[in-house]
Amino acid sequence: MQTNELQGVLKGQKIAYFSMEIGLTSQIPTYAGGLGTLAGDAIRSSADLNLPLVAVTLISKRNYFKQKLDVNGRQTEQPNDWEPERLLTLLPNEVTMYIEERAVKVRAWLYVYQSAIGGAVPVLFLDTDFDANTPQDREISFYLYGGDERYRLKQEAVLGFGGVRMLDAVGFHVRKYHMNEGHSSFLAVELMHKHNLDEAKVKELCIFTTHTPVEAGHDRFSYDLIRDVLQAADLSLLKKYGGDERLNMTRLALNLSNYINGVAKRHQEISSKMFTGYEIHAITNGVHSYTWTGEQYRKLFDKYLPGWTIEPELLAKVDLISDGEIWQAHQQQKQVLIDFANQTSNAQLDPEVFTLGFARRATEYKRATLLFSNLDRLRTISKGNKFQAIFAGKAHPRDEGGKRLIEQIYTYARQLGGDVNIVYLENYDMDIAAKMIGGVDVWLNTPMRPMEASGTSGMKAAHNGVMNFSVLDGWWIEGWIENLTGWAIGPHPKENLDDATCFAKETEDLYNKLEYIIVPTFYNRRDEWIQLMKNSIGKTAYYFNSHRMMRRYVTEAYL
Ligand SMILES: *Cc1c(COP(=O)(O)O)cnc(C)c1O
Repeated sequence: MQTNELQGVLKGQKIAYFSMEIGLTSQIPTYAGGLGTLAGDAIRSSADLNLPLVAVTLISKRNYFKQKLDVNGRQTEQPNDWEPERLLTLLPNEVTMYIEERAVKVRAWLYVYQSAIGGAVPVLFLDTDFDANTPQDREISFYLYGGDERYRLKQEAVLGFGGVRMLDAVGFHVRKYHMNEGHSSFLAVELMHKHNLDEAKVKELCIFTTHTPVEAGHDRFSYDLIRDVLQAADLSLLKKYGGDERLNMTRLALNLSNYINGVAKRHQEISSKMFTGYEIHAITNGVHSYTWTGEQYRKLFDKYLPGWTIEPELLAKVDLISDGEIWQAHQQQKQVLIDFANQTSNAQLDPEVFTLGFARRATEYKRATLLFSNLDRLRTISKGNKFQAIFAGKAHPRDEGGKRLIEQIYTYARQLGGDVNIVYLENYDMDIAAKMIGGVDVWLNTPMRPMEASGTSGMKAAHNGVMNFSVLDGWWIEGWIENLTGWAIGPHPKENLDDATCFAKETEDLYNKLEYIIVPTFYNRRDEWIQLMKNSIGKTAYYFNSHRMMRRYVTEAYL
């Protein structure tokens, strides 16, 4: 079975898509957040569209922890060990690399993502956890974003150098290499060696997508560390392409790729300023329409918009669906979410009550607590027209600031008591994401600008007729039409305001729009509200999907 499975997917010339994390399903927990689910959606769309992709990532066997929250919202982490052998096929190939002067063997597990309507995409999960390696080297493929700099460097070396070697060893013919973020930049160095330092040739082969709009977010390694960990590395080569003082993984990718892009138009502008001298394009992210559309809406789209799974543009014709059916599908999905929340969190949410949703990695720039800046305002709003909110999100185990945010939300929830019902769901993952974006009324997003390179959960929400209410950052600047596709929180990015003024405008919008526009429309003008829901589907989801995204990668970057 296994060899047949492999024979089928080895055929032809491939685009090799490298990503430190990939979110295929919640049963394969090798992702942490948006970067991984985006990679998963790219793979799902490629399979549907019959694109010749092969993906490469790390197995992250001890990733990603299960989140437990105590009564005060204090997060603890429980191991989330999973057994790759239950879902993946071990390939017989091994490649060798030298790390700290030890020969480290790398092997790979294969998962073939099968599209229900098209082709298949093989995914290789690189693994160092087996007998041939010392205990410390076995750990390299354990923890996604775990450990110190040295650990991260080893992981990136396995992903970049090891990944290219593994593709060759297994027998893939690769015509382009796509680096999804700078974690895999060593692949370009490996290609330089493979092609006799022919820079033009390597640049021709490489595509780089940057995801990080702030300088501090880019991986940098000191050359002392590199010397220590990767003795075989050609330092003059690394310095030439990755910087003299420290090896900047983003620079390395920028200097060795002919096609470079940011993940939204705004992110392209910011990246172009951060990295002058490079031509940086914009391919705005999208999400896999079928995956992120809830069961009830799938049925409606199948009935009225047949073909939507291969051509999500058909969602533009959402007006073919009656208001009653749109509303009923929403209420059914909302009921599923609310039942789930009430069962798992012992909450008393009401499916007739206006419901806000917010779920993201709990990290400071996402500002999960912005909603609670003024508790009295929240009480007032809810007194007029009742509302409730559902939160979720994990903090990185070492992100104390992120953990504090969760505890603060618990405190606010307690202070609001019966006035506003606030629930925090444990252990956010792709399944919980799907329930939440499929069942709330409005999806809230309050990142600190310009930190959200794109963001994707709002696009998922739009596929389910959920309205976006968001800070103008990332993709939302492109998706936003005030009062039609949703609402903006705070100033337009073109306005240059100091932090305090900006914050004042954000909280003003947040409360005023909730109180005077959003919640009253939901309760008092249901027809208008349903038209807004249709706009989310017909004006947002029809465009912000990963089929459109992958078609653009094909025509602009891969061909
Ligand atoms: C979609 C998704 C994300 C990314 O959401 P953002 O809005 O980009 O923060 C993170 N985690 C999970 C589990 C997701 O499904």
